[in-house]
Amino acid sequence: LDERLPYRGVDDEFDRLADTINRLLDRIAEFIEERRSFLADAAHELRTPIAAIRSSVEVALDKDRSEQGYRDLLEQVLDESESLEVLVNQLLLLSEAPVSLEKSPLERVALSAAATRSVEMFAGVAESRHIRLDSSIGPGIVVLGIRRHLSQVITNLLDNAIKYTPEGGRVTLSLTSSNTSARLKVTDNGVGISPEDQRRVFERFFRADRARQRDDTRGTGLGLSICQSIVAAHGGEIGCQSRLGHGSDFTVVLPLTIPTVDDAANG
Ligand code: ADP
Repeated sequence: LDERLPYRGVDDEFDRLADTINRLLDRIAEFIEERRSFLADAAHELRTPIAAIRSSVEVALDKDRSEQGYRDLLEQVLDESESLEVLVNQLLLLSEAPVSLEKSPLERVALSAAATRSVEMFAGVAESRHIRLDSSIGPGIVVLGIRRHLSQVITNLLDNAIKYTPEGGRVTLSLTSSNTSARLKVTDNGVGISPEDQRRVFERFFRADRARQRDDTRGTGLGLSICQSIVAAHGGEIGCQSRLGHGSDFTVVLPLTIPTVDDAANG
């Protein structure tokens, strides 16, 4: 893949063809490198919970213990197995999101209903953390897409907003629409994200140092890259605005209909 066609400089037709092939080869090489590094990162992240499970089992087998001693170790194993399960599910979602829109039939997804359900789903968690969860959801907003994936975007954003907002804070979800697009915004007044980190939050496995350090905010660093991949597959955009120490806004804009290839060709 390192080979490239030489340019002749005398034959325009040939040079254009060579240029196209060379650029294609560059893209294939980039794609392979991206897959390789994703696999390496995924293996690295999987290793952490697996090593923890192994070490708890080794400790349990090492000597006789009280029933409580075994119970504590089993609980650690259960805890790490759950982390492993979350990670594997997220990896699967990440790998299927970009292709599934081409494979699955598009559904009319009632975003208003999906957003209402997600807010209801998080009401209990928010209450237990004394976070005020408000919503302002425009009625009857429908987009074309995959319901399961779009719901996942809403729950990931709400989950983060609540996770990264200290007790007593406030999280608000709003859903509005224009003639052409739906706009979902999740706002919190939580820990916020520094300008350098804002550029990186959508990268796979990225977690800000503050997030890594806090024990109560376990995560994989995959949630936002899953959101981005799903939103992009639906022809939309996702963005983040934040101030460290003041809070964050995550905004998703989705087209109300996705143009088909024919629509696009007809302008
Ligand atoms: P995870 O939450 O599993 O770590 P995400 O991909 O969902 O992974 O988010 C990546 C990182 O972006 C988080 O680790 C955190 O540092 C930061 N982040 C995401 N959402 C917020 C938010 N609402 N407020 C502050 N930081 C956030």
